[in-house]
Amino acid sequence: MPGEQRYEDIDVLVIGGGLAGVYAAIKAREAGADKVVQVDKGKVGKTGASCFAAGVMHTYFPEEDDLEDRVRRLTRAQGFLAQQDLMQDHMEQSWDITQEMAQFGVDFVRTAEGKLERRAGRGSYPIISFHGPQLMAAMARAAIRKGVKMIYRTMVTDILTQGGQVVGAVGFNTRSGDFCVFKTKTTVLATGNAWYKGLGPGHRDCTGDGYAAAFRAGAKLSGAENPDGPTNFFPARYDIGPGMNKFVGEGGIFLNSKSERFMEKYNPTLKERAGLRNLNYAFTLEAKQGNTPIFMDMTHLKPDAVRRLKEVLPLAMRMFESVGLVVGERFTQPVEWMPIAPLARPGLMVDRRFETSLPGLFCAGEAASPTAVPIGLASAATSGATAGKSAAEYARSAAAAPLDEEQVKRLRQETLQALNRGSGVEPDQVLLSVQETVVPYDVLLLRRADRMQRALDAIEDARDNLLPLLNAYDPHYLRMAHEARNLTLIAELHLRMSLARAESRSVLREDFPCEDNQDWVKWVVAQRDGGGMKLSTEDVPVDGYPLKPERTKNLHHMWQLAEKLGICRVEKGAVKWA
Ligand SMILES: Cc1cc2nc3c(=O)[nH]c(=O)nc-3n(C[C@H](O)[C@H](O)[C@H](O)COP(=O)(O)OP(=O)(O)OC[C@H]3O[C@@H](n4cnc5c(N)ncnc54)[C@H](O)[C@@H]3O)c2cc1C
Repeated sequence: MPGEQRYEDIDVLVIGGGLAGVYAAIKAREAGADKVVQVDKGKVGKTGASCFAAGVMHTYFPEEDDLEDRVRRLTRAQGFLAQQDLMQDHMEQSWDITQEMAQFGVDFVRTAEGKLERRAGRGSYPIISFHGPQLMAAMARAAIRKGVKMIYRTMVTDILTQGGQVVGAVGFNTRSGDFCVFKTKTTVLATGNAWYKGLGPGHRDCTGDGYAAAFRAGAKLSGAENPDGPTNFFPARYDIGPGMNKFVGEGGIFLNSKSERFMEKYNPTLKERAGLRNLNYAFTLEAKQGNTPIFMDMTHLKPDAVRRLKEVLPLAMRMFESVGLVVGERFTQPVEWMPIAPLARPGLMVDRRFETSLPGLFCAGEAASPTAVPIGLASAATSGATAGKSAAEYARSAAAAPLDEEQVKRLRQETLQALNRGSGVEPDQVLLSVQETVVPYDVLLLRRADRMQRALDAIEDARDNLLPLLNAYDPHYLRMAHEARNLTLIAELHLRMSLARAESRSVLREDFPCEDNQDWVKWVVAQRDGGGMKLSTEDVPVDGYPLKPERTKNLHHMWQLAEKLGICRVEKGAVKWA
């Protein structure tokens, strides 16, 4: 029988130990919060996307870059659904925060003169580089030096509320199975995103646990249907990753099954260095024409480029070497490449202080809506820093509210129930059924209502018939059971929100091929409604923002190009494939 551990008198509880969480914890301490506790499913600094990130950061250089242009590009990447005030704050802060990370011990790649070295990556502005996992190792050490108390291998499953205010969280130790109760004045949720545990390492801890817990507690979520990067692209046959940004930055090119460098057609300026949204359009249109498999060709890279890759992507490059794809300082053959899985970000809606719709709950990094925090390390750091400061301020004036012990008791039973079942459905069976439903590219990466509805029916079936039977042999399986349960909820949110957006914006829809700036400059908002899910829309407050889209409704530019290339034609408001 698992025991129970209580952690009390916490000023700021930070859930998640990626860059956003670590920054929140550090800044909460610096802002005067006495007891700051950081809890992670694994070990802070060793899990999550931050630790496996592909060695590059998109930092704004005040003396070299055009701030307005950078904010404009970020806003456009989100199809004008971005919270422009937050994009501006992020850009302005990213330079100082990068300098601060260097002071905390992050070893950035520098020029002979000691300046941060900038090189081409994805996007129009050059990126800076670091040495893979060293970044998070340094940041985790910095948090410990600041006096943050770390709790490892503890999965948070739910958020505690009292009279609508967040007063703590519950979870369990993934080794002992002990139920854990956290009582806190304020909480920062920084649990990253949800990738459906697809191909490629680096994101399998990100199973949407924070979104699911916040949804169950009543928070408002948005952004799942319109992420700035609907997926990422990894080697198809090997568990190797990450590195896209650096590989294309050093000159890697994509070839389709006819050996055509197809990105020249879809994005003649940036080609392979186009953003993830644009790569997704191109990969899905190539797949639709039967031009797969797709390969990344790096066989032409010069030894100095391969050396730089080894410096910045030590893990991925060692993996390439282990299977003979890199020998010495050369790639030996093109590598098959594909989307890993759709990225789901039904993120928490936040204001400029990163406070969510639930009093006492703040949110940072990819746990927040993509409209507030774009993908990437720089924005994880800036959002974490602001959320941590805001949470510390909140804690100063908040009295610690008592816990609702009935709620704790109910959540203990729900958290541990799969452990006590004795027989039933394995977590992997649920995960596989979710993956088989949402991972095929023509469900969420290229969309049409009938396919998404079929997928939603399958997810509801898994929700109603498999989840109640989940069985966990031990605390490790209990973790997998909760991840499977959360991913089922995330898939439902992802599909429902995607069905609601009746237009093509960041992702193409065959049945709504127009980008509709007349009716759809809106956020799709999901919130718990009793035992169900309520969807609504909120207008993006563009009138108060500097950048305003033209209020037109036109065939999406990628469908226009696809028609021009003879891939499809648009008839009666729908796409017909050639
Ligand atoms: C493979 C890969 C490569 C990337 N490369 C780059 C790059 O080179 N440059 C760049 O700018 N961006 C990159 N990105 C994106 C970038 O890594 C992320 O935007 C950023 O790291 C997000 O930080 P985060 O702190 O929000 O989340 P994460 O770093 O994912 O941290 C989330 C943390 O929450 C913990 N957690 C999750 N659920 C729970 C729970 N229930 N209880 C307790 N803890 C929990 C996880 O263990 C994890 O430690 C990459 C992403 C991936 C997946």
